[in-house]
Amino acid sequence: MEPAPMTAPRRDAPHTPAESALLAHLGRALGSEGLRASALSRATYRRDASFLNADPLAIALPATRDELAVVLRACRDHQVPFTPRAAGTGLAGGATPTGVGGVRPLVVSVARMDRLLELDVVNRRAHVEPGMVNARLGRAVAAKGLRFAPDPASQIAATLGGNVATNAGGIHVLTYGVMSQHVLAVELMDTDGEIHLLDGRLPEQTGLDLRGLSVGGEGTLGIVVGAWLRLLPAPPAIGTLLAGFDTLEAAAATVGALVTSDRLPDAVELMDARAIALVEDYAQAGYPTDAAAVLLLEYEGLAAGVSAGVDTAARLAGEHGATEVVRAADADQRARIWKGRKAVAGAIAQQAPDFFLQDVVVPRSRLGEMLDAVVAIGEREGLIILNVVHAGDGNLHPFVLFDRREEGVLDRVFAAGHDIVTTALALDGTVTGEHGVGIEKRDFLSQVYTADDLAVQQAVRRAMEPSGLANPDKVLPTTVGCQEARMVPEGAWV
Ligand SMILES: Cc1cc2nc3c(=O)[nH]c(=O)nc-3n(C[C@H](O)[C@H](O)[C@H](O)COP(=O)(O)OP(=O)(O)OC[C@H]3O[C@@H](n4cnc5c(N)ncnc54)[C@H](O)[C@@H]3O)c2cc1C
Repeated sequence: MEPAPMTAPRRDAPHTPAESALLAHLGRALGSEGLRASALSRATYRRDASFLNADPLAIALPATRDELAVVLRACRDHQVPFTPRAAGTGLAGGATPTGVGGVRPLVVSVARMDRLLELDVVNRRAHVEPGMVNARLGRAVAAKGLRFAPDPASQIAATLGGNVATNAGGIHVLTYGVMSQHVLAVELMDTDGEIHLLDGRLPEQTGLDLRGLSVGGEGTLGIVVGAWLRLLPAPPAIGTLLAGFDTLEAAAATVGALVTSDRLPDAVELMDARAIALVEDYAQAGYPTDAAAVLLLEYEGLAAGVSAGVDTAARLAGEHGATEVVRAADADQRARIWKGRKAVAGAIAQQAPDFFLQDVVVPRSRLGEMLDAVVAIGEREGLIILNVVHAGDGNLHPFVLFDRREEGVLDRVFAAGHDIVTTALALDGTVTGEHGVGIEKRDFLSQVYTADDLAVQQAVRRAMEPSGLANPDKVLPTTVGCQEARMVPEGAWV
């Protein structure tokens, strides 16, 4: 990946008159709890979970819709761009506070707007504020025998507003789909402080699906201030299985057999030997450390169907040479198996100072080819790359491990990232599955869409967010911005 061009940083630069006026206005309106501008606060909000970083003007933390409206109107009045932000777990630089034309943006965090507004059991829907953490909703609805299906691996920190904005995926995408399938309605605030309800709460809607258009906007369409989310009945039975293989090819072939069997699993995750070793060291999930790959499989539904599914999976894994098949005996063992999968980023942090996490998708029939290519790219660049894959949907997450202090390593990391993306494209895949476009994938979009497609997307964006102040330099390739600065990890600019 080429480091994206962006506006040059202006750390501790004197404020322009517009910036000073904005900060004075917001200071009066929000107080010290709602506006942070110290060097320490700005350093904290320089980046999301990617390593793309930039210096914000300040951080607004409104606690209510009224406070947020004050913030957005002030940005409009003083023509200061803003970067919506929630938990900052995004991996594409979407919440990194880049600006345009040398103007530092205001970070607008919705983290304090985190209430569950309504749990409507009869209509099976929840009305939430954007800062509510995904896993918290899961716990709240479980008490009513319900579940919220989207389960990104980051769900203990990522917010529902962030999930709407990135159209997040997760472990159960194979049968339940991505976030968009679970968002019934979105409330979007514009820079006049007006809230637009993009409604799809009724099972049958009339007209164009504007609700769908608002999911995945990555903060470029305004700020999500509320969402109605679809709830499903909690499954009566769950069966989880762990299968170890001697080769990556055997694991990938098993995936093909599973998804064409008459018992489609609800989750099919693949981890390679390096991921297994790291996770076992860190989380003791019970994975076979001598395996070249493991599959984590799950079936949900009525007990008889689940049991038949688990039997089918065990048989197919055996037929493809599985060296070990473990069926989770109880909820604790199931939790342990998934704990390993969800602990990958934490495990890596103990072993490598830095990682660059890619996110690409290929048709699952080409998964084996793509995995081989990732291994070859790692060898060519002399980098350790470990693979964690939502294998059922062909969504790969190669983690490139590195130490930024090593001379020249960044060029190799970027080269590997770039080659992983272009390989996915060559295999009829695409540049991001679930982490979004942000800045990181922005310039690849012209390889995914035609100029006409991009012009339509730009027109939709302009129609929905005419001020152009909301996350202006994200997602769509743009000629705005300057080329003299290149973004590199924390603190360094060339
Ligand atoms: C360890 C790890 C594992 C992950 N696993 C997954 C996974 O399995 N599946 C997956 O899909 N993602 C995953 N992610 C990525 C990330 O968690 C998701 O993109 C998540 O949806 C981001 O939510 P957030 O609250 O952190 O948003 P942020 O990172 O704060 O923001 C993300 C984007 O949304 C915009 N935004 C945030 N809130 C709003 C709002 N209220 N209104 C408008 N725009 C807004 C921001 O401007 C930015 O563009 C993972 C990340 C990590 C670090």
